[in-house]
Amino acid sequence: QTADKATKLLIQPTKEQPLLLNFNENSLGMSAKAQQAVIDALPNAFRYPDAAREQLIEKIAESHKLESNQISLGNGSSESIQAAIQMAIYRAQKAGQQVQVIAPDPTFNYAELYAKASGVPTIKVPLTEKLAFDIDTMKKAAEDFPGYSIVYLCNPNNPTATITPADLIEPWIKAAPERVLFILDEAYAEFVTDPRFRSGIELVAKDHKNVIVTRTFSKIYALAGLRIGYALAHPDIIMQIEPFVSMDNTNTAGAVAALASLEDKTFLTISRTSIETSRKIVTNALDKLGLAYLPSQANFIFHKVSGDVKTYQDRMKEYHVFVGREFLPAKGWNRLTLGTPEEMTAFVSVLTEFRAKGWV
Ligand code: PLP
Repeated sequence: QTADKATKLLIQPTKEQPLLLNFNENSLGMSAKAQQAVIDALPNAFRYPDAAREQLIEKIAESHKLESNQISLGNGSSESIQAAIQMAIYRAQKAGQQVQVIAPDPTFNYAELYAKASGVPTIKVPLTEKLAFDIDTMKKAAEDFPGYSIVYLCNPNNPTATITPADLIEPWIKAAPERVLFILDEAYAEFVTDPRFRSGIELVAKDHKNVIVTRTFSKIYALAGLRIGYALAHPDIIMQIEPFVSMDNTNTAGAVAALASLEDKTFLTISRTSIETSRKIVTNALDKLGLAYLPSQANFIFHKVSGDVKTYQDRMKEYHVFVGREFLPAKGWNRLTLGTPEEMTAFVSVLTEFRAKGWV
């Protein structure tokens, strides 16, 4: 039904209102209940956010069947990743050990950037030919290193939007020596339908101390501008992470919006359904045009472009469509954010025109 409606309301991207399909935001916008919660909270926003913060921690814990002391709130999950990295580096250095980050390539690069800021190198392990994680090579990089390793695994991965099955990750985490710490970035987990994915939160619940999971309200709940994310880990690990997050890091607006979002199950369903519809609109077009793509399990899709990706991107920009970018070393692929079905219908219309011009 939504797809039918989409074709009727054709959006025309303009300079003033371009199609922003480049930052994996959720173009639906936040739920009406979350917006109302922000408005209602404004008169009291002169107070520190402690009460809303505590409530949110409890609600998040409850939603994952964990305890409050297994949650660390971040100013977006970016801060949770930053704090986890800094904590792990501090721990290694205190033990007089060298430390490295191991990450697939390409992947979301904040872990690498935060490690770099502390002078810690990242070993980048290229994806396999099928653009999947090369777990064996990553494992070997940890085994061969005499010091501490922080393994950053983004699942589903950004930019490929594909999942790594739990059967490939869990045995490694369970068998890894103490000097290996895993950060599982699950920013897009709520979009996943593939049953081979299992959240790392299950390992947290089973008291594994070598795993930190990060989640965010920026994607499925469309709160990117309000900056709410969190880490989930064993209470001992949360206690070690907390000194590395800024004090009172949660803003009141974000906290109340996140609380309202967690209670708004209808919005969650709408958000998921909208992405599924948008994905279908795009994959139908890519199929028609014979452009390969990976099986997306997130609110973006990694697809092939014939010809130079930068040229494609620049031409799209001229049509006021921002289509994301290439992520080397995955040459010839473009990461496209899935906006609303209406937006994706408009995108497909431009893409089809590009084919007529012989550009894709
Ligand atoms: N992790 C991944 C994989 C992302 O793609 C992003 C944002 O694009 C983030 C984390 C950071 O999100 P935020 O700080 O808004 O929670």
